[in-house]
Amino acid sequence: MTGATVIDGKQVAASVIEAVKTATSALETETGAKAGLAVVIVGDDPASHSYVTSKSRMAKECGFTSIQHTLPAETTQEELAKLVQSLNEDASIHGILVQLPLPKHLNSEPIIQSIRPEKDVDGLHVVNAGKLATGDLATGLISCTPAGAMLLVRRVHGEDLSGLNAVVIGRSNLFGKPMAQLLLNANATVTVAHSRTKDLPTVARTADILVAAVGQPQMVKADWIKPGATVIDVGINRIAAPERGEGKTRLVGDVAFTEASDVAAVITPVPGGVGPMTIAMLMANTVIAAHRAAGKTAPK
Ligand code: NDP
Repeated sequence: MTGATVIDGKQVAASVIEAVKTATSALETETGAKAGLAVVIVGDDPASHSYVTSKSRMAKECGFTSIQHTLPAETTQEELAKLVQSLNEDASIHGILVQLPLPKHLNSEPIIQSIRPEKDVDGLHVVNAGKLATGDLATGLISCTPAGAMLLVRRVHGEDLSGLNAVVIGRSNLFGKPMAQLLLNANATVTVAHSRTKDLPTVARTADILVAAVGQPQMVKADWIKPGATVIDVGINRIAAPERGEGKTRLVGDVAFTEASDVAAVITPVPGGVGPMTIAMLMANTVIAAHRAAGKTAPK
């Protein structure tokens, strides 16, 4: 029996997708412009293929022009760079996503940085990271997972987090840093913890909003959580599940969900919490980019 309210990320993501569909069709009616998303995948990694298939399918469902480029594992850096360049110049494409990780022989950083910032719907370009860091949330594109996690925080606490302590465990460019910036922009008092943090449980216990993005299964225990806190679990970890049969696995987050639920007031599950938000925010970023390209402001 859990005491905490469990946030249904699937439901929130579905509401984002509905808003994206409405905005997409309104833009097309008004300007004739159809939002376009290009997803690029290199190689045969099955997990990446499954993510890309979901993204392309969702883009179609949203009413976008959805293009998928599936390149062989032996694609060269130059070939990939050339494709990104052509997508940069294609006026029917408003969002470009290069699925990471790339095969080992390719260097992802120059590829990501060669995407035009206004088409960087993954929010990984330094221009977009810089806009977020300087508090410009109006003209940049925000990385999808932190944007999604922040939407869940807002559902609980509203727009203004004044007076609340937030602790983000994890400092990656992909998640921890942008998440901390979003919380700071919303007036929370933010601590970013990481593998060198001393006495992490004590730091975590100061949080009214505790965000875990570590990649360590069930690391955050009940006694790390301030009673009544909001806990956002970003981790996706696959662990052995012998109770389901030999060789079976299951997904867990970075938070020990069952025990944490007895202490937290609100918690996100894994799966079904932050995960579904990522793809929804990718669609939201694409429709925002399409509006901007048409000289319009995307609805909030
Ligand atoms: P990274 O590996 O890039 O970063 C992990 C961070 O956690 C680092 O800052 C690291 O610290 C810190 N860390 C690692 N071990 C510990 C520890 N024992 N104590 C304290 N801090 C620790 O991962 P990502 O940020 O990319 O992802 C984090 C998790 O979120 C993963 O499980 C990933 O699968 C998941 N994820 C989920 C997404 C979704 O769609 N829901 C999208 C993106 C990620 P240091 O910097 O000191 O090494």
